[in-house]
Amino acid sequence: QISDPRFIKLVIWGAKGVGKSALIVRFLTRRFIGEYLSGREITYQHEVNLSGEWITAEICDALPCTSLHKHLSTMTSHPDAYVIVYSVSERESFEYACSLMRDVRRCYNELQDEKVIPFVLVGNKSDLDHLREVSYVEGAEASETVTACSFAEASAAESFPETEELFKGVFRLAKTNNILT
Ligand code: GDP
Ligand code: MG
Repeated sequence: QISDPRFIKLVIWGAKGVGKSALIVRFLTRRFIGEYLSGREITYQHEVNLSGEWITAEICDALPCTSLHKHLSTMTSHPDAYVIVYSVSERESFEYACSLMRDVRRCYNELQDEKVIPFVLVGNKSDLDHLREVSYVEGAEASETVTACSFAEASAAESFPETEELFKGVFRLAKTNNILT
C-alpha cells in the first residue's frame, strides 16, 4: 500500500471528557471555548505547514464508544497515526488510554497489517495540577511499553504553542512513517 506523504490521517481517541475535542479545536482555531459538541464523530480537514511544506491533515474526533474493529473496518483507509488522550486529573481515563493502545496494536496484528502505526500518548489538562491523579513519569513509562509511541503532557485550556507543536510532531511522525512504507 502506497500512502501519499502529503495526506495525513489522524485519529484522536480516549475516554469521554478528557479534552479530545478541546485539543483539536485549540489546534484548528487557536481558541479554547470551554464546551464542545459530543455524540457525533467529526472529521476535520486542515492544511498544515510543516517546515515549509504543505500537507493536508484529516483529523478524526473519534467517539470513545466505537468498537475498534468497527472503526477500522468502516474507514476507507487506515489512520497514519493515533493520538490517545487521557486526563492527568482522572486515573480511569489513563487506564482506558493504556487499554486502547493495546487494543489498536492487537487489532493491527490480527489484520496482519505490517505497518507500524505511530502513537502519541497525551496527558491533557496539565493545568489542573492540584487535581492530578497521574504523574508525568507514569505517562512517560506507559508510552515506553508501546512501540513507536511518544508522550507529552498538554493543556488545551492554557497553552496554544504546545498544542500546535504536539499536532505538528504527530504529523512529522506520520509523514516519516508514510515515506518509509
Ligand atoms: P472530549 O469528550 O474528550 O472531547 O472532551 P471535551 O473536549 O469535550 O472536554 C471535556 C471538558 O473538559 C470540557 O468541559 C472542557 O472545557 C474541559 N477541558 C478540556 N481540555 C481541558 C484542559 O486542558 N484543561 C481544563 N482545565 N479543562 C479542559
Ligand atoms: Mg468530544
